[in-house]
Amino acid sequence: MRDIDTLVIGGGIAGLSAAARLARHGSTVVLEAEDAVGFHSSGRSATFCHFGIGGDLVRKLTAMSREVFARASGEARVARTHPALFIARADEEERLDALARATALHVSDAERIAGDDLTAIVPVLRRGSDGFVAGLLDRRAFKLDSDALLQTNIRELRAAGGEVALASPAEAIRREGERWIVDTRGESYSAHYLVNAAGAWADEIAIRAGVAPLGLRPLRRTIIQFEPPEGVDVSAWPFTKTVGEGFYFLPEGPARLLASPMDETPTDPCDAQPEEEDIALAAWRVEQGTTMTIRHIEHKWSGLRTFAPDNAPVAGFAPGAPGFFWLAGQGGFGLQTSPAMAMAAEALMLGLAWPEELAAFGISPEEFSPNRFAA
Ligand SMILES: Cc1cc2nc3c(=O)[nH]c(=O)nc-3n(C[C@H](O)[C@H](O)[C@H](O)COP(=O)(O)OP(=O)(O)OC[C@H]3O[C@@H](n4cnc5c(N)ncnc54)[C@H](O)[C@@H]3O)c2cc1C
Repeated sequence: MRDIDTLVIGGGIAGLSAAARLARHGSTVVLEAEDAVGFHSSGRSATFCHFGIGGDLVRKLTAMSREVFARASGEARVARTHPALFIARADEEERLDALARATALHVSDAERIAGDDLTAIVPVLRRGSDGFVAGLLDRRAFKLDSDALLQTNIRELRAAGGEVALASPAEAIRREGERWIVDTRGESYSAHYLVNAAGAWADEIAIRAGVAPLGLRPLRRTIIQFEPPEGVDVSAWPFTKTVGEGFYFLPEGPARLLASPMDETPTDPCDAQPEEEDIALAAWRVEQGTTMTIRHIEHKWSGLRTFAPDNAPVAGFAPGAPGFFWLAGQGGFGLQTSPAMAMAAEALMLGLAWPEELAAFGISPEEFSPNRFAA
């Protein structure tokens, strides 16, 4: 039995980014069930950072995290400035207005565009009566690199003396006195704090520990990869997302595009695989909204986006379960909010003064509390 201060369950971005900070305060081990970190959601994302997702708390966390990415963008592969364009059909302009107002709280220079300016930026967009009429362009969004983000957090974790145990699923979990005891295949741990950052499995971990689940909802999302029109360099195309039902696409280098139909299929926690109908839907929606024809899908995958009942992330001690700390519900924004979420988790778990960096963005500790779901 190894005695440690903090045991984190889950080697995705949530668990690793929090662990990198928690390890500065005490001995910390991250348990990851798979042979590699980021095997599930964190390694299957579109890895973009933008304001076109989530409610007020998610946008504030994104805004704070953008400052961190902006500082990192000079050096490592972690983040690189890349524009985001949100597009609307004629009957969706109100949604675009709402997004513009929400974005304006955090970015002063996001630009409303229309007509020829849309196709000047993304030449393949369909315009006209059934096409797109307006857009919101944020030139200061970021393309992230999930592997670089995960590795940066692991380096910081190790530098602070922490460890990642791969192929180590948390199996039995129980409370003994003031400690959480967790058995894995090879090792048992006794920890003061247990951080539940198990992504789609976080409710299952709670149940195993005798803690009330939150009602998390894992939703499958699909991505396809295909070649853009021959001879067209797409590397400067923005991350392009419809404000209503539709699709998003983004460049992956000069001659490759990724696209998603923004599907949200409820599923049990699992190694998500793409379904034929979602792959077809992705291609169809892109073809309907653009002049592109997708002849060949080079690659496809899917992953789970796991939401709390109110779609906002959760960080805080489970009511009535001392030391059991939720870090869950990162939905479709877990990478782009990870710097802010990790900072919040550190302060909330260790009872530190609320960080100025978070307060400056109007983020308050109460917003993360799992108590909001207590019946
Ligand atoms: C298609 C798609 C596109 C996305 N696009 C974006 C985007 O553009 N920007 C963005 O910010 N986010 C995006 N996301 C969301 C983002 O990927 C998630 O919010 C984020 O990865 C969640 O991180 P996590 O650490 O909570 O979960 P995960 O990465 O799933 O990590 C949880 C880990 O817990 C482990 N685990 C489970 N049970 C146990 C156990 N018993 N013992 C030990 N380990 C266990 C799992 O193996 C897993 O590795 C997207 C997601 C998808 C699927």
